[in-house]
Amino acid sequence: TQLTLEMIQEEIKKKCVELLHLQFVDIEGSLKQVTVTTEQLTDVVEGKTMFDGSSITGFTPINKSDLYLLPDLNTFAVLPWTEEEGYSEARFLCSVTNPDGTLFNGDPRNILKNTVDQAKEKGYSINVGPELEFFLFETDEKGEPTNQVADQGGYFEPAPYDLGERVRLEIYRTLKKMGFTIEASHHEVAVGQHEINFKFGDALTTADNATTFKWVVKTVAQQFGLRATFMPKPIFGENGNGMHVNMSLYDETAGKNAFFDESDSRQLSETAYQFIAGLLTHVSSFAALTNPLVNSYKRLVPGYEAPCYIAWSASNRSALVRIPATRGAGTRVEIRCPDPSANPYYAFAAIAQAGIDGVEKGLEVPVETVDDIFSMSDEEREERGIQNLPTTLGESIDALKNGEIGKKVLGEYALKEYVSLKQDEWNSYRIAVTGWELEKYQAKF
Ligand code: GLN
Ligand code: MG
Ligand code: MG
Ligand code: MG
Repeated sequence: TQLTLEMIQEEIKKKCVELLHLQFVDIEGSLKQVTVTTEQLTDVVEGKTMFDGSSITGFTPINKSDLYLLPDLNTFAVLPWTEEEGYSEARFLCSVTNPDGTLFNGDPRNILKNTVDQAKEKGYSINVGPELEFFLFETDEKGEPTNQVADQGGYFEPAPYDLGERVRLEIYRTLKKMGFTIEASHHEVAVGQHEINFKFGDALTTADNATTFKWVVKTVAQQFGLRATFMPKPIFGENGNGMHVNMSLYDETAGKNAFFDESDSRQLSETAYQFIAGLLTHVSSFAALTNPLVNSYKRLVPGYEAPCYIAWSASNRSALVRIPATRGAGTRVEIRCPDPSANPYYAFAAIAQAGIDGVEKGLEVPVETVDDIFSMSDEEREERGIQNLPTTLGESIDALKNGEIGKKVLGEYALKEYVSLKQDEWNSYRIAVTGWELEKYQAKF
C-alpha cells in the first residue's frame, strides 16, 4: 500500500510520535540518520533537511558538501522498541538530493533506482528475495563482542528454549510491527548462527527491507546483551554468513513471470537461461559489490555451502547459481555468492544488470553442473570449463575496475569512490602482519 502524508500524520498522532529519524545509507550500506521533531514534518517531506555530504563515506568533496534528504513516504515506520505510554519515535528512509533538487548520483538508493528504471524501459520489473544469515555473540563487561557464540544449536535444531531462540522471536515480533511479512525463521548450520526470511518484493523495497532488517537484528540482539554480526566469516572452520539472492524478472507487457516456461524440460524460459548466463559471465567483475570485504573471500572456500566456482545447476548447492524447485509465478534464480556485508542497493543492482545484460545479448548458458563441484579435481573442473570466483578482495577490485558492469551499475562517479575506498581497505590488509604469520614463521625462521 502507498502511504500518504495524511495517513502518516494520523499514525503520528495515534502513536504519539515525537521524533523522526531521517535515514539513508553511505556507499558501504551503513545506516546514517539525522533526527528531527514531528513539528517539522511538512518541511521534512518537502526534502528541506540538509546535511554535510563530505562527512559521509564516498559522497561529496568538502567544497561541494551540501546535500538534502528526501523521505520516501512508504518507508515510514514507528520503531517498536521506542514505544512507551504517550511517546514513540519513527523513521523514514530517504533519497539524497542535490541543492537543485535533482537526485544525487552518489546515493546507493538512487543508484538502484536507476537500474530499476532501466529495467522498466526494457519491460521488466525486478523481484528480489534475499536470505540474510547472522551470528549472535556474547559480549563482555564493556559490551564488546567476544568470540563466544550465544548458543550451541545446529541446522534447524529446535533446541531447548535457548537465548538464540528467544532473540529470534523478538526480532520476528519487532519486524512484524514494522510491516514486514516474515516467512521463516531457523537456526543455521553453524553454532550461534541464525536466519530469518522475509517476503520478496520489488528491488528497491527489498533493499530498504534488508537495510532495516540488519538494523533491527542488531538492535534486538543488543537488548539481550548480545552482538549480532553479519560479517561473512566470523569463525574459521564453521559455515559463514551468506546472503543468497533470489531474483526474477516480471514481464510487464505479458503480465507474468519472465522466467517460467511450461514447455521447457526444466520449465525455464529462454530469458531465464540468458539471465543465468549473464550472471556467470559477469560475476567476477561484480563480486566486489556482492562480496565487499577482505573477510568475504574467507567464506568463499570449498566445504561450507558457499560457492567458489562459476557454475549453475537446478538443485546443486555447491553451484554458484541454483534454481529453487518452485515454478509458475515463483520461478526464480538463486545466486549464492553474495554475503550480508554487501550494500544491498549495490548488490541487487549489480545482479540485475548482469542478468539483464545476458538477456539483451542473448548469452548462451553453459551445461548444467549436476555433480558436487567441491569433490572435483582441478583437472576435472578445467575440463568442464568451470572457472574460479575471485579469491581475494584485491582480485575482485581489479575485475570491477576493468569490467563493464561496474560502470553500468554505479556510474563513473560512484565507481571511482567505491574502488578507491576498497583499494585502501585491501592495501591496509595486504601490509598488515597477522597472527597467522607470527605463529607460522616467527619461531621457525
Ligand atoms: N551459510 C551458507 C553460506 O555461506 C549457506 C547455508 C544455507 O543456507 N544452507 O552461504
Ligand atoms: Mg535460506
Ligand atoms: Mg541459509
Ligand atoms: Mg538459499
